[in-house]
Amino acid sequence: MYAQVIVDLSAEALDRVFSYTVPRGIEVAPGQLVQVPFGPRTREGFVVALSRTCDVPPEKLKPLYMPVRTEPVVMPDLMELAEWMHVRYLCNLVDALRLMLPAEMRGGRVHEKTQRRAHLRLTGDALEAFVDKNRRASKQLELIEALRSGDMETAKLDSAALRALVKKGAVEICEGEVRRTPMALSDDTRTADPTPMPEQAAAVERLTTALETGGGRFLLHGVTGSGKTEVYIQLIRRALELGRTAIVLVPEIALTPQMVAWLHGRFGGDAAVLHSALSAGERFDEWRRIRDGEARVVIGARSAIFAPLENIGVIVVDEEHETTYQSDRRPRYDAREVAWKRASQHGAVLVLGSATPSISTYMRAMPGVRPENRLELVELRQRVKGRPLPEVEIVDMRGEFERGNRSIFSARLSAELRRCLDEGHQAMLFINRRGHSTFVSCRACGYVVKCDQCDVTMTWHQAENALRCHYCGKTLPPPETCPQCGSSYIKYFGAGTQKVQEEVRRQFPDARVLRMDVDTTREKNAHARILNRFRSGEANVLVGTQMIAKGLDFPNVALVGVVAADLSLNLPDYRSVERTFQLITQVAGRAGRADVPGRVVVQTYDPDHYGIRLAAAQDYRAFYTRESAYRRAAMYPPFTVIARIVYSGKDEAAVRAAALADEARLGAFLDEVDARRDAIQLAAAEAPIRQIRGEYRWQLLLKLYFKADLDAVEARMQALADAAPEGVRAELEVNPNNLF
Ligand code: ADP
Ligand code: ZN
Ligand code: ZN
Repeated sequence: MYAQVIVDLSAEALDRVFSYTVPRGIEVAPGQLVQVPFGPRTREGFVVALSRTCDVPPEKLKPLYMPVRTEPVVMPDLMELAEWMHVRYLCNLVDALRLMLPAEMRGGRVHEKTQRRAHLRLTGDALEAFVDKNRRASKQLELIEALRSGDMETAKLDSAALRALVKKGAVEICEGEVRRTPMALSDDTRTADPTPMPEQAAAVERLTTALETGGGRFLLHGVTGSGKTEVYIQLIRRALELGRTAIVLVPEIALTPQMVAWLHGRFGGDAAVLHSALSAGERFDEWRRIRDGEARVVIGARSAIFAPLENIGVIVVDEEHETTYQSDRRPRYDAREVAWKRASQHGAVLVLGSATPSISTYMRAMPGVRPENRLELVELRQRVKGRPLPEVEIVDMRGEFERGNRSIFSARLSAELRRCLDEGHQAMLFINRRGHSTFVSCRACGYVVKCDQCDVTMTWHQAENALRCHYCGKTLPPPETCPQCGSSYIKYFGAGTQKVQEEVRRQFPDARVLRMDVDTTREKNAHARILNRFRSGEANVLVGTQMIAKGLDFPNVALVGVVAADLSLNLPDYRSVERTFQLITQVAGRAGRADVPGRVVVQTYDPDHYGIRLAAAQDYRAFYTRESAYRRAAMYPPFTVIARIVYSGKDEAAVRAAALADEARLGAFLDEVDARRDAIQLAAAEAPIRQIRGEYRWQLLLKLYFKADLDAVEARMQALADAAPEGVRAELEVNPNNLF
C-alpha cells in the first residue's frame, strides 16, 4: 500500500504530493493526519489518496509513521472542496486543507479532555446488602450515597474511601470523555416559533420545496425588519426533520449576538456556535460535536463554511453583502462562492439573504443569467406585522453652515433627538469614523498631519490626547505649532465617534450615551456588554461606527441619525457608492422595528447624490438599476473581473522596478495569448495608499472581460507574483474588497 501525502508546510515548491509506503499494521485512510519523515525531520501531513501501485521505485520510498489521530480529520467532501479551492483560488493545497480543521489539531496541540469517573457497580439488593455490611465505614457510605445519583469525577472524591470501595468491588473507575461546551443550552430553553406572516410563509414554502427536490440557490431579498431570520429558522427546522444538517454564516459573531441567540434559542443543543472567542479546547470539542453528528446546526463567521457536517440540507449566508465573507489572507476565498460549491456537493439549498444585496449577487437573480450562475429571487417586501419602514429625512449640511450652525448636528437632528429622549425612546447615531477629529491641519499653510509610516492622515483621539494612525496604530503627541511653517493656527477638523459622543453630552446633559467602535470593544465580550446595556435601557443613545449598522433589533429605537453620510462616498474605490447605500439603508433599518414608529435623519453635504437619495427612499431596485448601469459603462465588476498584483517593500526603487518589470511581462503574455481585446491593462502605478507601515506600495491592475481566459491570465499573474524579487512582496488579488 502507498499513501500520497501533502506535507503540512507552506512553500510553493512543496505544493505537490509525496508518496510513502504504509507499514503493515498501520491503517490509514484519505483525510487522515499522519506523521511522515521529511528530509531530516518528522512532519505532519494529510493523506490525500491511497494506491496499490506507485510510479516511484519502492526502495526510494520511506514508510510513514503513526497517524496523529485514529480517525480522518478531513472528510471526503471537504477534501474535494480543498482541491476545488486549490484550483479556484490559486493557493497551495495545504493552505486549503488547513482551513478544514481547528488550527490547534495540527501538531497535536489539543486533545479530548478526559476525566476519571467513579461508577457504582452494585444495584438493588446487592447494594443494600453491601451498605448493611459496611455500616461502620461512614466515609465510604457517604461516597456511596453520592454516587447513587450518578457518576462523579474521581478528583472530587475522598481518595482513601474510593480506593477501599474499588477494592471491595462496589465501585469502578472509568475513563470518560467530557466536552467543553461553551454555551450549554438544554432543550427546555428552546423558544416557540411565531406564526409566519404570509410573505414569510410563501418564502418558506418555496425554499422547502427546493430542499425536498434536490436543492437550489436563492437570493432572499427582504427589507429591513421583514423577518428573514424566521424564514431561515423554519427552513432549517424542515431540514432537520428530513435528517439533514445546516450551516448559517453571519458576518461576525460578536456583532450579531441576537441572530446567534435566536438560533441557539430555537435549536438548543442541536446548535453549535463557532467563534473566535472560543478557547482552543472548546473549538476542538465543538468541532468534534459537529463531526460526530451531535450538533446539526452550525452558526459561525466565514470559516464555519468548512464545518465537518454530513448530509447538509441548508446553507444560509446572512447579510451576504458584507465584505467579511471574503478572506483577505491566502487562501483568498469568498465564503459565498465556497458555500455555493458546498451546497451543490450536498444537493442543499443555498440562501443568500440581505436587505441590500451586493450588485454582483443581485445581478445573478436577474433574467438572462446562465443557469449555472443563476440565483432565484425570493422577496419579502413588507416589514412584519405591517409595520412601516422608517421615514427618512435628508438634511443639507451646507444650509446649516450658512445659517451659522457650527455644530456637527443639524437643527433638525438636534430637535428630533430632544423629542426622542423626551418621549422615553432610544436613539442610534451612526458615523463611520472612530476617534475624535479625523484630521489635523494648519490654517496658514494647509499642512495635514500624516503618519510617516503610512500615507494616511492621523486621527486625534481625545481620551489619550494623541494622534493615531488607523493603519499601523502609531501614535504622536498633537503638535502645538505647524511642523511645516511654524504657525500656531493648528486646527482639528472632521468628526469621529468620540466627538459625536461629546456633542451629545454637551447638548443633552440628561442623555445616557454609549459608544461602540474599535476603541471601546477591544476587551473580550465588550460588544455584548455594550449592546446589553443599550437593550436594557441603561443608556438611551448609542453612538457607533458600522458596528451598529448590522442586523441589530432594538424595539425601543425611534430615531436613527446618520451624522455624516458622505464619509464613505468619496473613497477611491468603485464600490464606494454601493457601500454608502448599504450603510445608510441598513442603519436606517434599525429604527421603528417594533411598535414605536421610526424616524431617520441623514446629514450630508451632497443631498442630491443618487446613493444617498435612493438609500433614503429605501429603493433598492432603483439603486441597482442606476449602479449597474454605471458599472457596465465604466467596465467594473460584475461586468469585468479586476485582478491586481500589489507590490510592497521597504525599498521604493525595488518595489517600483518589480511592478514595471511585471507590467512588461504581463503585456507580452497578453499579446502571446491574443488576449488584448479581452483585457484592459492599466499602467503599473503607485497604489492609492502609497505607503503602509513604512512599506511602499505599487500595483499592476487589469480589468478582464468574461470572454478572456480568466484562469490562464490569473495563473500567469500568480506566477509573476510568486517570482517577485527578494525584498519585494507581491500579492495577487482578484476582485478584492478594497482597492486602496
Ligand atoms: P430582518 O433580518 O429581515 O431585518 P429580523 O429577522 O431581525 O428581520 O426580524 C425582525 C423582528 O421581527 C424580530 O424582532 C423578529 O423576532 C420579529 N419577527 C419576525 N417574524 C415574525 C413573525 N412572524 N411574527 C412576529 N414577529 C416576527
Ligand atoms: Zn503650516
Ligand atoms: Zn501608520
